[in-house]
Amino acid sequence: MPPKPAVISVIGSLNVDLVTRTPRIPVAGETLTSDSFTMGFGGKGANQAVACARLSRTKAQATTSLSAACGGDVEVRMVGALGDDAFAGGFLESLKKDGVRVEGVRVLEGRQSGTATILVESGSGQNRILFCPGANYEVGDGDLVGEEVDVVLFQLELPVDVVLRNMRTARDKGVETIINPAPAIPLPEEAYKGLGHLIVNETEASILSGIENPTDWNEVAAIFFKRGVNNVIITLGGDGVFYHTAQRHSESQPGKVVLANKVPVVDTTAAGDTFVGAYTVAVARSKAGLDTEFDLDAVVAYANRAASLTVQRAGAQSSIPWVDEVPA
Ligand code: ADP
Repeated sequence: MPPKPAVISVIGSLNVDLVTRTPRIPVAGETLTSDSFTMGFGGKGANQAVACARLSRTKAQATTSLSAACGGDVEVRMVGALGDDAFAGGFLESLKKDGVRVEGVRVLEGRQSGTATILVESGSGQNRILFCPGANYEVGDGDLVGEEVDVVLFQLELPVDVVLRNMRTARDKGVETIINPAPAIPLPEEAYKGLGHLIVNETEASILSGIENPTDWNEVAAIFFKRGVNNVIITLGGDGVFYHTAQRHSESQPGKVVLANKVPVVDTTAAGDTFVGAYTVAVARSKAGLDTEFDLDAVVAYANRAASLTVQRAGAQSSIPWVDEVPA
């Protein structure tokens, strides 16, 4: 019998990005011929599910395997909602091609999928975005965590009460919890109690901690430890990653920083999602007993390397690497 796969549930958003490039933004009542139109599958939830899947299997494993885990020894389950519109079928197929299981994605009758209508001014590169949550905000009541799950990964593009309720369910079931609280809004204390891993960028760290323009990441992390978080990871863009654990903090040790790899940057879209995916896979593997122990130093360094590949490529989901592209 092959060993039981590690199981990750990503409870989050699925959005379709509708991107129109235009020489300029039309004025009220005006019709303008644009430069181009492209459509892409996104949403923080779906992007991070794709990152988890790619960073735990090769492209060949994802496309050829019929096994329960869709190739590899980590099963990634996307949990969320789409509308029964023209986008749903293509979105689900695209996730499956990446090795993501989609049985947990509900296709809601008579509803529209979440969309981001994005206007990009070709000359200046400035964008204007209209987000319509659609089915994401009707993802449903009850237990979305599922059975035999090792790790649940959350973001904040679903209604916050859905996130909080399922965090509670996960904790009650003894499932490890990770949250990447983007877009950031202040969360109630209960969100932090017993939280396994909090992964934030600098802006999110500031909003959630309540410290404006933070300079001392140890001070920020201390606030989260006091609220009950076990591991605090603050991604610092081109400056790398700060990380700390409640255990080291209680021993009066400071957090550590791993510097970003020096690479030619093309587009930083999905860098954070790649980092979160690589990190989550490592947590799941150790929780399921596939790796002997969780070595935070090694995991952060690995996730940092994975994210540095993403910034060298244009695009969102398309720029997320497969596991065999990341140096071990
Ligand atoms: P987010 O996209 O969520 O705002 P960050 O901008 O902090 O997240 O980036 C996440 C991670 O991506 C960083 O911690 C780092 O590992 C990698 N990264 C981001 N920008 C760069 C860069 N300019 N050079 C190398 N790595 C980068």
